[in-house]
Amino acid sequence: MKSHAEWKALSESLILNGQAYINGSFQAAVSGETFPSINPATEAKLADIASCDQADVDIAVDNALQTFRSGVWSEMAPKERKNVLLKLADLIEQHQDEFAVLDTMDMGKSISEMVAIDVPDTIDCFRWTAECIDKIYGEIAPTAPGTMALISHEPVGVVAAITPWNYPLMMVAWKVAPALAAGNSVVLKPSEKACLSALRLAELATEAGVPDGAFNVLPGFGHTAGKALALHHDVHVLAFTGSTRVAGMLMEYAGQSNMKRVWLEAGGKSPNLIFDDCDDIKAAAATSAAAIFSNQGEVCIACSRIYVQKGIKEEFIAALTEAAARFLPGDPLDPNTNMGPMVDSAQLDTVRRYIQSGLEEGGTLLCGGEPEYVEGKGFFAKPTIIADANNKMTFVKEEIFGPVLAVCEFESEEEAIELANDSQYGLGAAIWTSNLSRAHRVSRKIQSGMVWVNTWGEGDTTVPFGGVKASGNGRDKSLHALEKYTELKNVWIRL
Ligand code: NAD
Repeated sequence: MKSHAEWKALSESLILNGQAYINGSFQAAVSGETFPSINPATEAKLADIASCDQADVDIAVDNALQTFRSGVWSEMAPKERKNVLLKLADLIEQHQDEFAVLDTMDMGKSISEMVAIDVPDTIDCFRWTAECIDKIYGEIAPTAPGTMALISHEPVGVVAAITPWNYPLMMVAWKVAPALAAGNSVVLKPSEKACLSALRLAELATEAGVPDGAFNVLPGFGHTAGKALALHHDVHVLAFTGSTRVAGMLMEYAGQSNMKRVWLEAGGKSPNLIFDDCDDIKAAAATSAAAIFSNQGEVCIACSRIYVQKGIKEEFIAALTEAAARFLPGDPLDPNTNMGPMVDSAQLDTVRRYIQSGLEEGGTLLCGGEPEYVEGKGFFAKPTIIADANNKMTFVKEEIFGPVLAVCEFESEEEAIELANDSQYGLGAAIWTSNLSRAHRVSRKIQSGMVWVNTWGEGDTTVPFGGVKASGNGRDKSLHALEKYTELKNVWIRL
C-alpha cells in the first residue's frame, strides 16, 4: 500500500477529464454548460464537468442504437466479446491506483476502502461476468415429436444505467459489466456528485476494444440528463441504483414513455439483531460499528438500526461504543483513515438534522453528536450512536445515509422479527446468534433481499445483491444480473 504522501502525489498528478464520452471520444455538452466537481475533504474544485441534457442524451442514445443495430458488438462472437471485457478488467487492474484516487477525491471514501473493496470488486465483476459470456447456453424445450422449440437469450438493445455516488466505480461496474456482456449498447449517467471514474472507465473500454457507441457516459444532473434518458423511447432497459424517491419517479417515466423495463436498487434501513446467545459480543459490536461507520455510513446496506436483546444490552453497548471510538474522520487519502467526509454540505446537513430529531424525540446520545463544520475544511461528521431508540422515531424510520446509529431493545425472537420487518425498506439484515436453528428461522422470516449471519456486508460476484419492498426489485451481480439485460426468445419449429 502506498503512503499518504504517495497517494497525495498521485492525486495531484492526475489530469481530470469531465467531458461526456460519446461514440468513443470525449466531448463537451451541446449546450457548453459545465458544473464544478468538488473534493468533499478539501472543498477544492477538481474539474469542470459537462452538464449534459436532452440534446446530449438524444445524440448518445442514437449512437448507441445505431451501434447495436450494426451488430459490431451485439453480434460479436461470444468468445471475442469475452476477450474484450477481460482486457478491460486487465486495464482497470493496471490503473487500479488511479481509480482508487479518483473516487476518493470525488466523494470522500477512504483510500484504504477503495484499495480493499471497490477496485478489486470492480475488476472481479468485469472478469467474472466476461467469463460467463461463452458459458451460458440456450435451451430446447421438451415439446412433442414433430416440433422443436428453441429458447434463447438475446440482448435487449440500448440499456440506460443511472448510478449513485457512494460506490461510484463499483456501482457502475455492477450495471455496465453484465449489460455489455449480454451484447447491449450502454448509455450511463453517473451521479453528478462523482463521475470521474466512470469517464475514465469509458476511455479504457475503448482501449480494450469495446466499439465506439457501445459504451457512452453522460455526466449531468438527474432532473435533466437522467430524466431525459428515463423518458427516451429508444432506451429499452433502465437500470438504476439510488434513492427510493427517484426510483419511484423512474417507474413513472417508463410508464409515460415506452414501458421500458426498469430495474431498481434503492434505499435501505437495514436491521441488525443481536441475540443473547451470540457467543462473541465483542466481535458482534466491532462488526456492527463497521456496518454503520465504514464509508461514513453512506452505504445502502448500512445496518443503521440495532435491536439488542435485553439481557446483554449493557455489555453490548459498552463494546459498541468502544468499537465506534476507533472510527476517526480524517483525510481520506491517508491509508490510516477509516472515515472520510460526507459527500457534500447537503448530506452533512441531513446528518445534523437527523441527530437533532433523534435527540428531540427522546434518544440518548452515547457518542458523536452534531457535526462541527469549519468552512473550507471539508464536510466531516462524527460517528454517532443514539440509544433508547424505538421504531416510532423519525431517525429510526428514515434512511439517513450517514454515520448515525439507532440502538433499540427487544425481549423475544418474535418481537425482534416484528421490529426488523417494521420498515418500508427490505435491503439487508444481520443476525448475531450461535443457535443454528434460530439463524435459519429468523433469516427465513426477515423481509429483505440479503441476510448476514454472524457477519455483515460480505459477498462476492457469485451472489445476487438487491432488495425487496421499497428497496427495489432487480439484482446486481451473479448470473441473475444477466437476466435483467436479456430478452427470452422462443422459436417454435414444425419439423
Ligand atoms: P439519488 O436517487 O439522489 O441519485 C441517484 C442517481 O439518480 C443519480 O445519478 C442522480 O443524478 C439520478 N437522478 C436524480 N433525480 C433523477 C430524475 N428525476 N430522473 C432521473 N435520474 C435522476 O441517490 P444518491 O444520493 O446518488 O445515492 C444514495 C441512495 O442510493 C441511497 O438511498 C442509497 O441507499 C441508494 N443506494 C442503493 C444501493 C442498492 O444496491 N440498493 C446501492 C447504493 C446506493
